[in-house]
Amino acid sequence: MGDYAYAAPTSLEEALSVLESQANDGQRTQILAGGTDVLVQMRSIDKEPRTLVDIKHIAETNALSIGADEIFIGAAIPSAALNENDELKGLLPGLIEAADLIGSTQIQGRATIGGNLCNSSPAGDTIPALVVVSAVCVIASPGGSREVAVGDFVTGVGENCLESNEILLGLKIPRPGNNSADAYLRFIPRTEMDIAVAGAAVALTLDEGGTCTSARVAIGAVAPTVLLVEAASAALVGTKVDDDALNAAAAACSDAASPITDKRGTVEYRTKVVGVLCKRAGGIARDRASS
Ligand SMILES: Cc1cc2nc3c(=O)[nH]c(=O)nc-3n(C[C@H](O)[C@H](O)[C@H](O)COP(=O)(O)OP(=O)(O)OC[C@H]3O[C@@H](n4cnc5c(N)ncnc54)[C@H](O)[C@@H]3O)c2cc1C
Repeated sequence: MGDYAYAAPTSLEEALSVLESQANDGQRTQILAGGTDVLVQMRSIDKEPRTLVDIKHIAETNALSIGADEIFIGAAIPSAALNENDELKGLLPGLIEAADLIGSTQIQGRATIGGNLCNSSPAGDTIPALVVVSAVCVIASPGGSREVAVGDFVTGVGENCLESNEILLGLKIPRPGNNSADAYLRFIPRTEMDIAVAGAAVALTLDEGGTCTSARVAIGAVAPTVLLVEAASAALVGTKVDDDALNAAAAACSDAASPITDKRGTVEYRTKVVGVLCKRAGGIARDRASS
């Protein structure tokens, strides 16, 4: 591992000022949340010196609130804490099952969904799940704060719209209404501890008669960034989310995918699998929304 310094600010102001002063001195900084990506990368991929700025001691990044209209999940909250929150699990089962897929129990004790998003891997499991629930990034900047939809946050493989002097404070999610639910599924070559070959998330709302009134479908690991597939959403809205509708949504996902071939799967395989995952996740979301 390369040389590094470590700062553990206890307020947002202090954290922003560390980022600013290091930049003024021409020094590199990197935010540390759970460190489950950062430390692996520092050991093997990127050994350049830097100051790690730990955000786990800042009140705003540890905040969790479930309001009448909005949910806020602080960027330093580990997946394990989210997985153990039954109210959150009831409201956002798909997002929580995505967080629950990350690594192992040990990894989840540290890993955050904010870190998963900021690492900006095409295969990050929580990103499609965040996109379909219309999550919004709350970002602290030196001049105040700004908000960016998760769907616009990731700009490329390992790239996002954060400036080096900014911190993701957390994620704002509209509280799902009645008869609404989400689901996330991924495929990996073994039972756990692997990176998605493909992933699909679906969030939808049904009316009292079981007809879908709104839907969002997103796919992961099949393009440089997670894709919101409008054609798949359109295939579900106005239907009972039956097999015909799910097959049409699945076909739209396969059409939208532009994957690569690597050791985990070929273009053809990923293209097929992402449709299957969309169909299955759509069925799960429908059953959850109608129960
Ligand atoms: C054994 C193992 C298994 C894994 N399995 C999976 C898996 O199944 N699925 C999956 O998607 N990932 C997996 N990962 C990757 C990793 O655990 C996740 O991406 C995790 O969610 C990262 O969260 P973190 O808090 O540890 O992020 P960190 O490592 O702390 O940070 C990740 C990146 O985001 C930046 N960052 C973090 N928080 C902020 C913030 N608040 N503001 C600005 N920048 C920030 C950091 O600077 C860094 O660039 C695995 C990793 C390991 C080691």
